[in-house]
Amino acid sequence: MATINDNYLKLQGSYLFAEIARRVAAYKEANPDADIIRLGIGDVTQPLPAVCIEAMHKAVDEMAHKETFRGYGPEQGYSFLTEAILRNNYEKKGIHFGTDEIFVSDGSKSDTGNIQEIFGAADKIAITDPVYPVYLDTNVMAGRTGTMQEDGHYAGVTYLPCSAENNFAPALPKERVDILYLCCPNNPTGTTLNRTELTKWVNWAKENDVVILFDAAYAAYITEDDVPTTIYEIPGAKDVAIEFRSFSKTAGFTGTRCGYTIIPHNVTGKAADGSRVEYNKLWNRRHTTKFNGTAYIVQRGAAAIYTEEGQKQVKELVGYYLENARIIREGLQAAGLEVYGGINAPYIWLKTPNNMPSWDFFDKLLKEVNIVGTPGVGFGPCGEGYFRLTSFGDREDTKRAVARFQNLKF
Ligand SMILES: *Cc1c(COP(=O)(O)O)cnc(C)c1O
Repeated sequence: MATINDNYLKLQGSYLFAEIARRVAAYKEANPDADIIRLGIGDVTQPLPAVCIEAMHKAVDEMAHKETFRGYGPEQGYSFLTEAILRNNYEKKGIHFGTDEIFVSDGSKSDTGNIQEIFGAADKIAITDPVYPVYLDTNVMAGRTGTMQEDGHYAGVTYLPCSAENNFAPALPKERVDILYLCCPNNPTGTTLNRTELTKWVNWAKENDVVILFDAAYAAYITEDDVPTTIYEIPGAKDVAIEFRSFSKTAGFTGTRCGYTIIPHNVTGKAADGSRVEYNKLWNRRHTTKFNGTAYIVQRGAAAIYTEEGQKQVKELVGYYLENARIIREGLQAAGLEVYGGINAPYIWLKTPNNMPSWDFFDKLLKEVNIVGTPGVGFGPCGEGYFRLTSFGDREDTKRAVARFQNLKF
């Protein structure tokens, strides 16, 4: 008899975006003429940089000829891409990795979701609250948590509350944990941890033998000097941190799919016999067993952003979304709302007026000004009373939405 992985039954289901879609559809049905503006999406809207298109066209043509055709590539990624990444994102900052410390993938959702497989089943995880749901859900699936409690927390997980009260910089956990997930710049809050804060976490991880899983999907959006774009800017991070990066928000690759993970050789965990084993070795084994490489064509497209022209085009693209973020941020402040994020991230995190529950504010926005956003509570219990808007929309839509906020009564 086949049985199921019962851990899946502990999951809350994909409630958040399904519920948003349901409420929007119901409103639209009752109000067919409503001009709804969506600022809830976590997906980019602008086309790929021209350099990527050009490089991918060329790669497609290579596939058409026997002499230049490519079959399976190295599972860890082609050296033309890994070397370009290491040179541009790390060596320019004086941070050095071997090409066997980087793994190219089809994106950071897979990597941040799969990484838990190389850790012990009894390891304790800590996550910030609110945060990108992938970290928690994949650990629930793996049986590393208990069931969902009444307060919205899973048993056996250490939650690190992040709110305006602590400036979205969580305190160190009081209990022992083995793995810490950090998302910086953060989705959904759009806030960051500065050099001092990150140093605190790296030192704590070293002292307590914790591995930090650092998701830097939004690194390209960092504008402030005090916010490191990679955790490896912090001394000692190479001994305790695994870093995830993605081309999705950097270069519009959400539909094209490419990301990478850095696992330094120095990051180790304890085996049952007491010896220390490199996570790099385990991930390499996993990656070569369960993954057959990112498409050659896609890797060519990704590598193109590291040319001089590519860097210019990516900067322009990210700048477009950051300008939207500025427009939303300042417009909402002018409307009297309390807002966070939007300076080093494409997300604006607003405090709902009068502590209104997130879902009530969702309905209010939809009905009064026809704007769709994302209720903060969907990212964790500490997101209650907050609301996420994204700057991934069109400039004109963004401006129209912000103008409507001035008419919102609260
Ligand atoms: C968008 C996003 C990613 C990137 O996912 P891909 O699979 O690379 O598209 C990773 N982490 C966070 C927090 C994100 O918001």
